[in-house]
Amino acid sequence: MGPAALSRLLFGAEPKLRRMMYYWGATAALYTVFVGLLTDAGERGLIDRGDALGLAAYTAAGIVGSYLLVRLGARFGLAPTGAAALQAVFGISCNMWAYSITGPLRGATLMGLMVVVVFCTFALRPRQTLALTAVGLAAMGATMWWHQAHDPLHYPPLVEGLTFAIMAGCSMTVTLLTGEASKLRARLKAQKEDLVTALDTIRTLATVDELTALSNRRHMNEMLAQEERRHGAGMPGRDTCIALLDIDFFKQINDRHGHATGDEVLRSFAQAARAELRAGDVLARWGGEEFLLMLPDTEEAAALAVVERIRARVALLQFEGMAPERRISFSAGLTARRGTEALADTVNRADKALYQAKSSGRDRTVVA
Ligand code: GH3
Ligand code: MG
Ligand code: MG
Repeated sequence: MGPAALSRLLFGAEPKLRRMMYYWGATAALYTVFVGLLTDAGERGLIDRGDALGLAAYTAAGIVGSYLLVRLGARFGLAPTGAAALQAVFGISCNMWAYSITGPLRGATLMGLMVVVVFCTFALRPRQTLALTAVGLAAMGATMWWHQAHDPLHYPPLVEGLTFAIMAGCSMTVTLLTGEASKLRARLKAQKEDLVTALDTIRTLATVDELTALSNRRHMNEMLAQEERRHGAGMPGRDTCIALLDIDFFKQINDRHGHATGDEVLRSFAQAARAELRAGDVLARWGGEEFLLMLPDTEEAAALAVVERIRARVALLQFEGMAPERRISFSAGLTARRGTEALADTVNRADKALYQAKSSGRDRTVVA
């Protein structure tokens, strides 16, 4: 099994779960350091050895337990927030235990509560974090109160009271600050989503013709440049054919049937032409009622066949308010790229051929 497969097995494949597992890994590392220090303090006789081992075992069980909780919780319907809250409660219980057995070191163990609070802000909603902070404070307060009541010699009430006040002030402040940070994060996330949507719209606006949903002229110019690059600069391309198609007497349609019908003709023309294209062919609205067709890797004869298929399909189009015998026709200029010429030159030649098609009677294709 490769490292990637092992990591998937241990930490899952889903990004959100993997993030939770990452948090688990970080806290597990912290707990491990903490257990190491605790057992060392036990060995040195700073604290009771049995107490230290007991808490070490409890912590180790907690690390394993929380791994299972996060890794498998979802399978048993436990929400990630539920798993995080349970881990936080476990962290608080460790803190209570540590505070009770570490004697003069107990003040230092309170740092752990801060870690719990910050962990919560990453995994829980601000309100839930606030609730867990309150639970943590209540639990630690009760622990301190119990010790000063039962063993005031080692736990002087004044010291306990002041320690509690400092801890409460700090953890509340941390909760509020991290709450602000998560609000900021949420705002940034929303802004990012807005930007992604806006970028999508801009990309569409920049490349798609609104009326016909074909590529617009700008995008077609990009596609022409890309086609040139595909064959390498100055290299003879395999046949790339260019055709310019212009609807005949389109102004008349507008004048007689109105601009809306004209628009409808343009839309239907685009749809009919697109239906005859193959993958790789690109059709763009080049101007008002003029369309540019690029056919990569296509011989002139095959390109002509495509244009004539479009002609046949367009001739079948019918429009409301127009006499059924009124056919939509177009003229076309078709040419293949020659040698290493720029595709702009090919387009110019197609344009001249289109002009010839118009002047020699329309409804035809002239190949140049
Ligand atoms: P020819 O056969 O020589 O091509 O004649 P034609 O009438 O098709 O050509 P001309 O260039 O004289 O007129 C094109 C018309 O297309 C003029 C313009 O108002 C119209 N047009 C351009 N864009 C649009 C559009 O988006 N919608 C509509 N309805 N008409 C448009
Ligand atoms: Mg025209
Ligand atoms: Mg025109």
